[in-house]
Amino acid sequence: MSYLNVTQLNKSYGPTSIFQDIEFSAEEGELVTLLGPSGCGKSTLLRCIAGLTSVDSGRILLKGEDIVPVTPQKRAIGMVFQSYALFPNMTVERNVAFGLKMQKLPAAEIQQRVAEALELVELKDFARRYPHQLSGGQCQRVALARSLVTRPRLLLLDEPLSALDARIRRHLRDQIRRIQQELNLTTLFVTHDQEEALTMSDRIVLMNKGKIVQSGNAEALYTQP
Ligand code: ADP
Ligand code: ADP
Repeated sequence: MSYLNVTQLNKSYGPTSIFQDIEFSAEEGELVTLLGPSGCGKSTLLRCIAGLTSVDSGRILLKGEDIVPVTPQKRAIGMVFQSYALFPNMTVERNVAFGLKMQKLPAAEIQQRVAEALELVELKDFARRYPHQLSGGQCQRVALARSLVTRPRLLLLDEPLSALDARIRRHLRDQIRRIQQELNLTTLFVTHDQEEALTMSDRIVLMNKGKIVQSGNAEALYTQP
């Protein structure tokens, strides 16, 4: 049994099947990349794991526990989107604190955890700024901090680098990888970019047209015919 086990997962929207019989796993602390062309179902799969959309059938086990019937809040899964999805009228620290306030944690603990999360993404000097005063890369680091501060059991990254220009993309990629390893955080990273997949994964799961076509480490995937 792995840390995360996905078995026989199926999802349709009306008559349209989005993915079929998805099976893969992730070990604790592993960064697994879901790589595939745009439209193959990667985002929908992440949203199903996060509990943001329903599945038709199949199981998702996190630490041996079925999470399909569990609410998104109780799943304790963090998700970062391509579009950052920050609250524009809140400062950086309020954005990061938001999830903890919803959980009604004591103010002192919120403050400490927000400071730690901002330190981790190297943004502690930006705590009082608003999203429109930040670059795209900085916004994405705020979004990452907002996920990390809740101490998720699993981190889902949905094309987090795709909206950024090449130089920033490289920097953020390295930063995400460093943090993920430092925290030993099991992570699913979705991308359509082969180079990203090759440079930051422990393992790659290749998706095409709603199916998993292959999986393995980068070396195994690209040295075999
Ligand atoms: P990817 O992340 O690989 O680009 P998506 O999961 O976003 O793929 O989309 C897979 C397919 O599902 C696409 O054809 C998309 O139009 C469709 N789709 C995504 N979300 C919905 C939805 N809520 N309702 C209907 N179709 C959807
Ligand atoms: P669920 O999968 O739990 O029903 P969703 O929020 O994923 O919830 O979708 C609700 C409905 O909204 C879908 O069944 C679909 O018909 C519609 N919908 C949402 N997003 C899209 C999209 N990108 N394209 C087409 N239809 C969509």
